[in-house]
Amino acid sequence: MEKINRRKFLGLSALAGVGAWVAPQTATASVRGNTDAKENKMAIRKLGNTGINIPILSMGVMRADNPAVVRAAYNSGITFFDTAHGYQRGRNEEMLGEFFKDKDRNSFIIATKVHANLSSGNFETEYEEQMNTSLRRLQMDYVDIFYAHAVENTGILSDPRLIETLKKFKEEGKTKHIGFSTHANKPAQIDEAIKAGIYEVCLISYNFKLGILPELDDAIQRGVDAGMGFVAMKTMVGGVEDAEGKKQVDGAACLRWVWQNPNITTAVPGFTSFDLLDNCLEAAYRPQLDAADKNYLAGLIEKNELLYCQNCGQCVEQCTKSLPIPAIMRAYMYNYGYKYAALSKETLESSTVNGNDCAGCAKCTVNCPSGFKVAEKIAAITPIVNVPSYFLA
Ligand code: SF4
Ligand code: SF4
Repeated sequence: MEKINRRKFLGLSALAGVGAWVAPQTATASVRGNTDAKENKMAIRKLGNTGINIPILSMGVMRADNPAVVRAAYNSGITFFDTAHGYQRGRNEEMLGEFFKDKDRNSFIIATKVHANLSSGNFETEYEEQMNTSLRRLQMDYVDIFYAHAVENTGILSDPRLIETLKKFKEEGKTKHIGFSTHANKPAQIDEAIKAGIYEVCLISYNFKLGILPELDDAIQRGVDAGMGFVAMKTMVGGVEDAEGKKQVDGAACLRWVWQNPNITTAVPGFTSFDLLDNCLEAAYRPQLDAADKNYLAGLIEKNELLYCQNCGQCVEQCTKSLPIPAIMRAYMYNYGYKYAALSKETLESSTVNGNDCAGCAKCTVNCPSGFKVAEKIAAITPIVNVPSYFLA
């Protein structure tokens, strides 16, 4: 299989810059209905009952701020781009809007997401305003998938206000499909979504480190049987092998592990550079997990201290102050793994963390099964809430 190198990427980018735009490999046909794997050089899978067919590799745009990397991904045959209302305080959607404004609307799939703040007495109006803002930033009349963002508790997906607002978005043509993203209580969230009957796509954290895999895979199967499509995120367990965030994980091995599950339509790794894209493409062109991958991942499983928190929730029950530790651990991963301090702060702020949370606790009572020294990590990350946002990238 052809490996796309940095020079090739730069060549494609340069051509596009002077107007001689190079059509992506899927441009000859709409991504809806295109099932020719050979043409794309990447396997194509269908996304539940949406009618969308996409390569197994997509782009999580979250941290990307270089449109040339988006262009390289698009020109490489990637057709599905995942963003969110909150990423980079809106600049992420704006960047995609600028990039896609002159592209054939049928040549790409866009997903965005907004947190559903159901505690607001004005939820419906606020949610609609956020949806409209996202469309304006994206310079689009509609998105292909709109997700309720980071649904962590049961009861949200079946809330009638959320259901009615999402249905309205679809009826008005602002989104083609409705979905939700989740990091926690995943089997229960999937079952609740099946029951609610409106959710077509689930964006789910899914990787080789998950402790609840059999239970989760069963729930995913139930979702697939009900017609839902599944997209995998957090596939690279935080992106680094060590707690200090110095050694990158082998992303290709992580992706190949994810693609073993035929119920996962695509993965949205958050590559931000040509080299990382190259690594992901290399995996997508040769997606079979081999013995070397298995050995490598087995070594990582033995190593407890990765940055990925399982979101099992055991720590919250053990903590004397019931701190939202899974969210704090995610914020730690964003900062030390992804080097994305602004998102780390946003994650902490939405969890009402104050930066001095463990004060007064003589001894930490939490015993994390993943070996996380939670009090140390809390002390290392929570002071970021007191750093003004304009200092953070
Ligand atoms: S910090 Fe540990 S105990 Fe808490 S949710 Fe994460 S993996 Fe589970
Ligand atoms: S040290 Fe922090 S995490 Fe540990 S029990 Fe006390 S408040 Fe909870």
